[in-house]
Amino acid sequence: MKKLIFATGNEGKMKEIRMILGDLDYEILSMKEAGIDVDIVEDGKTFEENAIIKATEISKIANCVVLADDSGLEVDAMDKMPGIYSARYLGVDTPYSIKNQTIIDNLAGLPDEKRTARFVCAIAAAFPDGRVVTKRGTIEGIIGYEERGENGFGYDPIFFVPEYGKTTAELSPEEKNKISHRGKALEMIKEEL
Ligand code: IMP
Repeated sequence: MKKLIFATGNEGKMKEIRMILGDLDYEILSMKEAGIDVDIVEDGKTFEENAIIKATEISKIANCVVLADDSGLEVDAMDKMPGIYSARYLGVDTPYSIKNQTIIDNLAGLPDEKRTARFVCAIAAAFPDGRVVTKRGTIEGIIGYEERGENGFGYDPIFFVPEYGKTTAELSPEEKNKISHRGKALEMIKEEL
């Protein structure tokens, strides 16, 4: 069976990826399972650049298809911040309860129509022949007025999806996968594999 490495150390992401790519004719490995342990500097200026950096760096030392993603939250009223800095926003070790409350405070007094935001996910696939393909998935929502829900991670408790009347932290993993930025980008990249 052909091998595919997904360049992430995040077990939550690996779970989503296995759910979505599970029916492909590939053995899907995390970096750990592939025995790869490298620190990559994500100094790209866009989600796509960062995903390409990660996929091509790993591709140099792996002899199979390598996928990598870069994702984040764009809040329109904050000039699309935290964007590519989502993981680092207010410091990597700052709890998300604080990051989320800071965003809510930044938007104080703004009505729903000015609270628009989106999750973005770019996935890059680096093939052994040097070819690189990227795909972008997004999900639109609005920033809530308080944290809601226990599922998911990161900014999910403040990301309200009007069509569902719920935050992405209130959706089940299956529901979230179907509509999420990562789910959509993975479905697109699947067609390239
Ligand atoms: P990276 O793609 O692993 O570099 O990190 C992206 C960051 O964006 C995460 O650490 C979260 O803060 C945020 N993020 C990306 N996707 C999601 C999501 O599905 N829910 C909540 N936060 C997310």
